[in-house]
Amino acid sequence: MQAPEDADARRAIKPVICYPTETLPEPDLVLYAAARVGAQKIDEVVAQPRDASSFHVEAGQFFRITSVEGPQVGDLNLWNAQDLSERFYSGKTRALHGTHLTTGERMWSSFPYLRPMATIVEDTLGWYGIDEFGGSVHDVIGTRCDPYTAHLLSGSQYHNCCHSNLTRALADATGMSLHEAEPHVHDVLNVFMCTGFTRDTGQYFMKATPVRPGDYLEFFAEIDLLGALSACPGGDCSSEHSSDVAACFPLLVEVFEPQDHALEGWQSPQINKYDRSHGR
Ligand SMILES: [Zn+2]
Repeated sequence: MQAPEDADARRAIKPVICYPTETLPEPDLVLYAAARVGAQKIDEVVAQPRDASSFHVEAGQFFRITSVEGPQVGDLNLWNAQDLSERFYSGKTRALHGTHLTTGERMWSSFPYLRPMATIVEDTLGWYGIDEFGGSVHDVIGTRCDPYTAHLLSGSQYHNCCHSNLTRALADATGMSLHEAEPHVHDVLNVFMCTGFTRDTGQYFMKATPVRPGDYLEFFAEIDLLGALSACPGGDCSSEHSSDVAACFPLLVEVFEPQDHALEGWQSPQINKYDRSHGR
């Protein structure tokens, strides 16, 4: 296809940010940090390699995902604990905060709720930034490894992709059947995963995560949450996933409760105030 004469001029148009975030409600990170100081650990679960675990976190509590034993990527789903139709919205979170999340950024919920579900309060990989390949950590661009795409590409029947792991964990947490639980599983926050898009072909890439045992990502729960975390069969995601080839390690999830009155003045965010009349 012949490029038009003004092709360079058209390409030279400067981009604008789709969603300037100056008017986004800011999390009170100072208050959260103060509340975290006296918080007590009240629960922990371990996501075993190539499997997932669920956990509950009440609004106003903290949860921390820690790398233990070896470099490992985790796929995180979040739901409103009282209403599974409100769940993490990876796409809108990406539109608001960019391709990768770190401290001070939030996991937003689906329409018609669109409110912060959780706020990242600490990220020991915050130093990583964006590397020379355009890669960064904790992405909201990938979806979750799943057996359907694996079958499409290789004809396999592999049952320990994050999608299946999360489906089993949600079924176990709720008493639903696997078929009932599966539609509630959604695109994830790729915890510790190092990803980007190639500059030449625009393809989604992954590379070995920089996470090491002891590194963690910690969140403040803005609403009552049911969470599920899968320890991805890709392990550190340096080569392949959707198989049992990669070395895999567990991931630890811990829940912390602040002391009474430590969050004085804080309120769990309301659901979005758009009137939902849609012009009629
Ligand atoms: Zn995975």
